[in-house]
Amino acid sequence: MSAKQEFVDKTKEGKVLVKKCTKCGHLHLSTVYFCQNCGARGFENEVLDGKGSVITYTIITVPPAGFERYAPYAWVVLDLDNSELHISGFLPNIAEPADLPVGSKVKITDFDDRGIILEKL
Ligand SMILES: [Zn+2]
Repeated sequence: MSAKQEFVDKTKEGKVLVKKCTKCGHLHLSTVYFCQNCGARGFENEVLDGKGSVITYTIITVPPAGFERYAPYAWVVLDLDNSELHISGFLPNIAEPADLPVGSKVKITDFDDRGIILEKL
């Protein structure tokens, strides 16, 4: 199974698969060859809960081709709980900023052709 597929499978369970440096504990979202913090080469898988707080987002009311049926939605960057990692995903039914104050709690629920799918908590 590819690393990408493993990652996708975990998001469908509401989890985030990350690579943890065995030397310093720094977490990486994607496969890397050297730790971005200490340069070591050893990693182990760690699974985080797919919950976090909204840092910023873009509301899409005029979607790209193929995404018309999903509009309006927000493309959200969230700060994952219990880590310093940021992850972005798709949050349906967001039409205006009042629908999604910065700092709102969201969770990962699924993964499909839109990418990571989020839901408000
Ligand atoms: Zn490290």
